Amino acid sequence: MNGITLLILTIVIGYFYNNRWPQPMKHKIYFGVGCTAFLIFLYFMNYQTSFVYKMGKNIKEINEKPLYQSIPDFNFDTVKSDNIKVKLANRQNLRCPSCHNPIGLRDIDSYKLSYITPLQYGGQNDISNLKLMCPSCFQFRNF
Ligand SMILES: [Zn+2]
Repeated sequence: MNGITLLILTIVIGYFYNNRWPQPMKHKIYFGVGCTAFLIFLYFMNYQTSFVYKMGKNIKEINEKPLYQSIPDFNFDTVKSDNIKVKLANRQNLRCPSCHNPIGLRDIDSYKLSYITPLQYGGQNDISNLKLMCPSCFQFRNF
């Protein structure tokens, strides 16, 4: 187990470092908390691997799942509209394609249209080449 060796080595180095240059109590507490967190991380990665991977898989799935799917009364017809932004939001399962955050239909006017493939890279000026991004993703988009 290389992780345990690294942790023991870090603690030994920390002990001698503290003897040579005494540290304030705050730094000692940070060091102890960091070592404990690393020990817990090692335990989970070595003995509870299936739990860790299942948790990661659940987080990934919940980010990709369409919103409101689990609410039985919710009907997508209620959000149907001729507005191009509402159409795009429905096509994207009411999520921003970059950050997967939910798109709020109330403030849909603040969301920005963007090309999936920019025109200068051969994208078409068509609704199939458009996506609806949240304002922060639109501001920091990269082509
Ligand atoms: Zn976003």
